[in-house]
Amino acid sequence: MHTLGMLKLTAAALLTLSGAPPAKKLNVVTTTPDLAALAREIGGDLIDVTALAKPTEDPHFVDPKPSSLVILNRADVLIEGGAELELGWLPPLLDNARNDRIASGAKGRIVASQGIHMLEIPATFDRSRGDIHSLGNPHFLVDPVAAKIVAANIADHLGQVDPANAAAYKAKLQTFNTAVDRKLVEWQKALEPHKGAKLVTYHKDFVYFAARFGLDIVDELEPKPGIAPSPAHLAQVITAMQTAKAKVILVQPYQNRKTAETVARQTNATVLDMPEQPGAIPNTTTYFQLIDHLVQTLAAGLEEKQ
Ligand SMILES: [Zn+2]
Repeated sequence: MHTLGMLKLTAAALLTLSGAPPAKKLNVVTTTPDLAALAREIGGDLIDVTALAKPTEDPHFVDPKPSSLVILNRADVLIEGGAELELGWLPPLLDNARNDRIASGAKGRIVASQGIHMLEIPATFDRSRGDIHSLGNPHFLVDPVAAKIVAANIADHLGQVDPANAAAYKAKLQTFNTAVDRKLVEWQKALEPHKGAKLVTYHKDFVYFAARFGLDIVDELEPKPGIAPSPAHLAQVITAMQTAKAKVILVQPYQNRKTAETVARQTNATVLDMPEQPGAIPNTTTYFQLIDHLVQTLAAGLEEKQ
């Protein structure tokens, strides 16, 4: 009796000391690290965020791990890029994760491409020819204005899943939008001297970035999104680069840098490491650090080639 009484007292005292028991954080899972960075901007301390893909992985071709199933099974919210970005790897994982909270159409399922003005939607498409951008170009997050649309979508869904904190998510969205507006002026100023600069990319992954900052993408090393460069195609790219006087080639960590370097040697161009995923290289943890890095790397690379 005596011992039990003491235990009850101790438990009551602990509760008094710590206040109410801590609320459970929302378990948010994203397909890619860029979406995780945006989720952290909106969810802050109210959520735990896990990205399924590593920052150094191609978002089109992610290696599914057994742990991904467990992560998806426990998720309160899933954020995907959409527009078939993850078509090759996410659907089978979701089939096996058995989680209605993140089923298609559920409050806990966020499709980032919803509300985005998609570029490069093909008039006709034939997946059998290997094009992996069959619903339009899914690499829109490097456009800060598109990121604001995605952030609003995230805030809206987090508020639906967790109504008690809906106002907090809204407030964080406001803070994010204000910060983007302020930084966008800075980013535009940094790239202003390079308006119309000719670029070559490995994949069609800078289309939205180029449109936002007035840059001109001349060609890609891939003949089609997802199709490896062939010698015949690379010969065409070299001619196109010489004609347009393109002096930089942008690559991601998971793309074949050697191929880019071979082309660069024949065109007196420079290969620039331009990762679109936060965390692929040091000091790019947040969305703002990532775009800072892209803008600074590109401005410096173009400056050097003038
Ligand atoms: Zn792509």
